[in-house]
Amino acid sequence: MSGITIALSKGRIFEETLPLLAAAGIVPAEDPEKSRKLIIGTNRADVRVVIVRASDVPTYVQYGAADLGIAGKDVLLEHGGAGLYQPLDLNIAKCRMCVAAPAGFDYAAAVRRGARLRIATKYIAVAREHFAAKGVHVDLIKLYGSMELAPLAGLAEAIVDLVSSGATLKANNLVEVEQIMSISSRLVVNQAALKVKRDLLQPVIAAIEGAIK
Ligand code: ATP
Ligand code: MG
Repeated sequence: MSGITIALSKGRIFEETLPLLAAAGIVPAEDPEKSRKLIIGTNRADVRVVIVRASDVPTYVQYGAADLGIAGKDVLLEHGGAGLYQPLDLNIAKCRMCVAAPAGFDYAAAVRRGARLRIATKYIAVAREHFAAKGVHVDLIKLYGSMELAPLAGLAEAIVDLVSSGATLKANNLVEVEQIMSISSRLVVNQAALKVKRDLLQPVIAAIEGAIK
């Protein structure tokens, strides 16, 4: 495919990416929240945006179906990063990955006595590494959403999830018991495209870099 294809997810990443693209002189022709189109043109005839699930962005870029993409560190760690060049932390979609448990559950005591814990999460790779490094025995239970429900429904003792304000945890009587890492979104570039389309991609990457807050 000639020109540039950029993979973005709807919602916060699309919203927070708009100013960065604008700095590179790229303005999407439509709002993906209002349009059902999955391929959106821009003011530049040679640049288009494909709208995909947040967790699918690295896959599109890895296989070269998109040249550029923007994905959360959480998503990139689960994907593994194969075939991706990750030149820029964009400092957008900021939150943190944490362990949360019901307010009445003494997580620290359970860890101290070496209890085996059931942990529900969408982030299996990050959770596995975190608990292995701490020497905590866990059974990881893969979920695709609404992790907060798991301890309330008796599926798990604790969860690993993303938190920003903490309002969702609070509304479900959960507390953050451990912080794992800070999360923000990164620009990802297909490694082969960066070589073959360098003249086209490099100015866009440089303009985005200049617009990072
Ligand atoms: P989907 O909603 O399609 O299941 P998702 O939850 O991964 O997928 P988004 O909610 O758009 O998609 O989140 C995209 C990225 O934004 C996440 O990968 C993460 O890096 C970041 N993010 C998630 N939740 C928050 C939050 N509450 N505040 C700030 N950034 C967040
Ligand atoms: Mg979400």
